[in-house]
Amino acid sequence: EHTTTWKQLNDHLAEWVAASKAHTADGHVASYIPELANAPADILGICIMDAEGNTVAAGDTHYHFTLQSISKVFTLILALMDNGEETVFSKVGMEPTGDDFNSMLKLELVEPGIPFNPLINAGAIAISSLIAGSSPKEQIERILQFFREIAHNPALDINQDVFKSESDTAHRNRSLAYFLKDNGVLDREVDDVLQVYFSHCSIQVSCADLARMALVLAHNGVDPIRNQRLIPRRFVQIAKTFMFTCGMYNASGEFAMNVGLPAKSGVSGSILTMVPGHYGIGLVSPALNRKGNSTAGVHLLGKLSQEFDWSLF
Ligand code: GLN
Repeated sequence: EHTTTWKQLNDHLAEWVAASKAHTADGHVASYIPELANAPADILGICIMDAEGNTVAAGDTHYHFTLQSISKVFTLILALMDNGEETVFSKVGMEPTGDDFNSMLKLELVEPGIPFNPLINAGAIAISSLIAGSSPKEQIERILQFFREIAHNPALDINQDVFKSESDTAHRNRSLAYFLKDNGVLDREVDDVLQVYFSHCSIQVSCADLARMALVLAHNGVDPIRNQRLIPRRFVQIAKTFMFTCGMYNASGEFAMNVGLPAKSGVSGSILTMVPGHYGIGLVSPALNRKGNSTAGVHLLGKLSQEFDWSLF
């Protein structure tokens, strides 16, 4: 089955990418973080990696981009590894919201005052505060080390232009953080927590990095290429469940219906997804739909899922 799929991918991925590329015209590059507005609107790149580390790639895979909200999956995992489930779920809930990713609306509905889940901005900001370390610098260093290990790429680093751009303009995230602080969710200073949050959102990667990170999740926390466990299985299960129910924000239901795989998107137009037990997938196409997900990316994943019957259901 793997051999046939792999052959099909090698033969057709470039043509499917070319067909999905047209959908970039239906979206817009995010501009609320000024630096992201410079992204090319009409590109699409994808990399798929198997358990031996073979890759099939097509489109604009030379393009590098920042993780943005995809980072939230891995900071959640690190926070779980640092604190355990009980502490983490005293600060964030387990339920999807029907609201935009940066919404203020539902902050007070789950257990008075805690964010609905760790993948909306409010929840991810709460998670940033839980990363072990005595200073933001130490927390950021630990996050970088962890992400480099998962991606098996010691060169991963923060894009300082994106970091500064977001930090200078993040009035809404600041207000979310102050709200959380007032509700007793953050044990650290607001500015310190936000520095950590903006830093992990600004880690720069390629599609191949995303595919490798996804591969570890696809194999329940083991990097199958090195045959090395990097994350306890239970924490990967938690992360994948959130990706399935909340990973594509308030379009998670539609994505579950049309693609049927755990996934996480970022406003850079990136999507990390996987075929559990098999492949890690990373893609980027900066033009976004109204819900903040890559238009061409979602289209391409729909096509692949249909072609290979990848839906979990
Ligand atoms: N850094 C971005 C923000 O906080 C992440 C949002 C996203 O990728 N959806 O607004």
